Amino acid sequence: MKPTSNAIDGELTGECERCDWFVVRGSYPELVKAYHHHLRSEHPRTWLRR
Ligand SMILES: [Zn+2]
Repeated sequence: MKPTSNAIDGELTGECERCDWFVVRGSYPELVKAYHHHLRSEHPRTWLRR
């Protein structure tokens, strides 16, 4: 995941490196939490490798 900060509204955006999924959260911990949830459900093999 590549988290980037959005200067316009102060939120953080994270993009999945394996599909077109992305997430917007107000804080980095929330961003990581959402990304891990995505990995578990959409890329279980990637999740298990962690
Ligand atoms: Zn993905």
